Amino acid sequence: MPTRPRKTPLRKTRTRSRPSPRLARSPRSSHARPASREKWVYLFDEGRADMKDLLGGKGANLAEMVRIGLPVPPGFVVTTRACNAFLSEGSRFPEGLWAQELAALRKLEKRTGRSFGDPENALLVSCRSGAKFSMPGMMDTLLNLGLNDAVVEGLASETGDARFAQDAYRRLVQMFGTVVLGLPHEPFEQVLERYRHQRGLQNDSALPLEDLKAITEAFQSLIREKAGRDFPQDPVEQLRLATEAVFRSWKGKRAVDYRNAAGIPHDLGTAVNIVTMVFGNRGEDSGTGVVTTRNVSTGEREMEGDYLSNAQGEDVVSGARPTLRISALKELHPKLYAQLGRICQKLERHFRDVQDVEFTIEQGRLWVLQTRDAKRTAQAAVRIAVELVGERLLRREEAVLRVKPEQLDFFLHPQFAPDDKKAARERGDLLATGLNVSPGAASGVVAFDADTAERWSREEKKAVIMVRPETKPDDVHGMLAARGILTSRGGRTSHAALVARQFGKPAVVGVSEMEVDCERRQLTVAGRVLREGDTVSIDGTTGEVFAGRLETLIPDLKDPYILKLLKWADDFRELGVYANADYPRDARKARELGAEGIGLCRTEHMFFEKDRLPHVQRMILARTDAERDEALARLLPFQREDFLGLFRTMEGQPVTIRLLDPPLHEFLPNHDGLLHDVTELETRLELRKGRPGTAELEEQLARKRRMLEAVESMREANPMLGLRGVRLGIHLPSLVRMQVRAILEAACQCAREGMRVLPKIMIPLIAHSNELRVEKETLESEARAVMKEQGQKVAYQFGTMIEVPRAALTADQIAEEAEFFSFGTNDLTQTTYGISRDDAETGFLSEYLHKRILPENPFATLDQRGVGSLMELAVKLGRKTRPGLDLGICGEHGGDPKTISFCHRLGLDYVSCSPYRVPIARLAAAHAALASR
Ligand code: ADP
Ligand code: MG
Ligand code: MG
Repeated sequence: MPTRPRKTPLRKTRTRSRPSPRLARSPRSSHARPASREKWVYLFDEGRADMKDLLGGKGANLAEMVRIGLPVPPGFVVTTRACNAFLSEGSRFPEGLWAQELAALRKLEKRTGRSFGDPENALLVSCRSGAKFSMPGMMDTLLNLGLNDAVVEGLASETGDARFAQDAYRRLVQMFGTVVLGLPHEPFEQVLERYRHQRGLQNDSALPLEDLKAITEAFQSLIREKAGRDFPQDPVEQLRLATEAVFRSWKGKRAVDYRNAAGIPHDLGTAVNIVTMVFGNRGEDSGTGVVTTRNVSTGEREMEGDYLSNAQGEDVVSGARPTLRISALKELHPKLYAQLGRICQKLERHFRDVQDVEFTIEQGRLWVLQTRDAKRTAQAAVRIAVELVGERLLRREEAVLRVKPEQLDFFLHPQFAPDDKKAARERGDLLATGLNVSPGAASGVVAFDADTAERWSREEKKAVIMVRPETKPDDVHGMLAARGILTSRGGRTSHAALVARQFGKPAVVGVSEMEVDCERRQLTVAGRVLREGDTVSIDGTTGEVFAGRLETLIPDLKDPYILKLLKWADDFRELGVYANADYPRDARKARELGAEGIGLCRTEHMFFEKDRLPHVQRMILARTDAERDEALARLLPFQREDFLGLFRTMEGQPVTIRLLDPPLHEFLPNHDGLLHDVTELETRLELRKGRPGTAELEEQLARKRRMLEAVESMREANPMLGLRGVRLGIHLPSLVRMQVRAILEAACQCAREGMRVLPKIMIPLIAHSNELRVEKETLESEARAVMKEQGQKVAYQFGTMIEVPRAALTADQIAEEAEFFSFGTNDLTQTTYGISRDDAETGFLSEYLHKRILPENPFATLDQRGVGSLMELAVKLGRKTRPGLDLGICGEHGGDPKTISFCHRLGLDYVSCSPYRVPIARLAAAHAALASR
């Protein structure tokens, strides 16, 4: 056997060889000292798992596996610093690197008892990329380095398998042409296709020896012709060029796109791993596979993955051949299956997390080629974190920290409505069931390539399902733009599955009965033909594929693992989590999801209801107080019912009610529309002049004119900064009295029924403490009156929003009147920046973000430096006046994890967000508290 390395002896006494601090400086600054002093190359037994910065994730973990005695083929790692030095020095090896790489190669030869380029006894290696964070398939790897025209003959006679040797050589020349020399794949594939066709074969594995020889020669001439150079026969030159190619692949388009999407910095560089080759294609007692130590879709505790007999690693990942489930290995080789199981367990215990493991079996001997923390769905992440606590591998706080708050979004995401799904099945719209590799439901139009998917989604704002036979790293931009991914080939660890899971995209892969024809841009399945642009629905949770669009709904949060994790989160967090809810149904949802109060009830939403709007308009347009009071009296019972509903739902938890906030014109018809109507009526009347039946038209016109006049009299140049918020309340005190009356009547009724209530009345848009004082008087006199009438006392609080800079700057004065503050960060951001959100987000703000003038949209993530400083000041000043001042945030930022962590540091009492973000906020608040421990 050519390449069976002896088992690497485990060195018990290891000398720690980490880079000294001096050498850890950047390559530029190392000019002062001889650069050759830097250690660029580490043998596997010189590294360990915590050296990922230097050795990359793959290299550091290979080293760690050697350290804990797992069967890893011998090898060494060229550091990420070497890569960075190479890239920044105009593609030149830094001084000392090549000598160290050759020295490591000599050691590898010694350890394996083989020698690189020796036809009698050849050492073959792979040259693999591997950055600090795994970027599956995004960079390059070369296999079978060390083969040439002579070595291939030696390998053939040594193994007695000339076909195998020739196939390995064929692969090397092909990879060399494409990866190192950058030639396109097609001409190589065309050669292969020609030979397959001549023999009437489906795949390469049955091509006879003489064909493989001819193919290898054809590949060599292709290289000569297209790259203007020969395929290097010198193995050492192969190694050098391969190392350079892997370095360069860090800057490849695929890799750059992926890093952008995954938020990986661009200056990390990749390490290069040189690994002794082992072969899974040496017959039926050989094979290769990828397993995750648990099911990474559901989190279940079972090994999951793909296996291929008599194949090499890249065949599994590429989806080129249909794979077997890993359980097939149990039937084929029970002993090896058991050994793999033990290795997986050991890896899990050692790394304290679920692993994604590449292995190869060469003639009955198992080798591990890679391990990394497995990518997983949100559902799996939660279950795994909780179960690892049960297995005593993690502490609760670690489990809580293992799940990113945003991941919980998945649980609150739409799934297909069961009824609609049933109906679709009955209609015969269930087309097929494939592998359910990334959960969630998605409907959209079919796009057959990544560019189309991206274009339709970005430019035409369509929901797109990207459909491919299989996906490749070049397709990632389309996958990111699509709502879901559907492929006809590939297994659970295929590229499509991996990427989909990582980015939380629903995906169904390996729908083998579906034929995808990207040329003719159609797919055929279950006797139906769908063309590009037709609609499909995929259920990544079950693997089902439907024709047409299906209704979705948001499921209840009842997964037992997430409930447990959130309970732990609640134990750690210090911030309260409230919800913004205007109706009892929102409040109910919020409580179900764990909210402990309502931080914002926007009463204007109630005013917009169809049966109320006419009264609201009459109230606004009233010419006398009596008219206005009449309209308000009609609104009162509605409002009372609204509040009653909220109080009953919240059962004594705080309910923060904001008095009417928006400018009044929002309740009236649109000005331009009215103008249009008036002009039209006028023309129609003109035409009908003198004829009968105009009286009705005239009346209509008069009504419209009155409305137009009223709207015009209320028109403001800057309504956002105009008569709204507290200003409105001061302008129309009877409105405030009506709202306060409704709140207190409802509260008294609850109290009479023996129910606890805690209303918090909140005044918006305060800029000066005098405004608050005036409001407070109106409000308190009305409250006293109601309680007297009702013969019932209820406790309520009076407070304000902080949403203009002056309020923050004078918070000490404001706190004299207010018992609580709630930061309205939407308006506070608008008024601090002086930016009108509605105009900006569709206009210049996107330009700013694109040009990176602003790093983030301040309406999505709180601007801590600017807006945050005002908040900090308001907290300080407010608490100086009133130490027990209750503080919260109710802007949309209240559900953003980064902002939540900031609010924790500010010492707020609670955050309030939309009901569906409550679980995310609970977890984020726990993260914030744990981080500050
Ligand atoms: P990626 O990061 O894209 O997974 P890898 O460097 O892991 O790339 O290699 C690609 C494939 O080649 C994997 O299936 C891997 O297991 C296989 N492979 C890499 N090195 C060797 C080796 N020395 N012997 C056998 N197979 C190998
Ligand atoms: Mg790999
Ligand atoms: Mg506001």
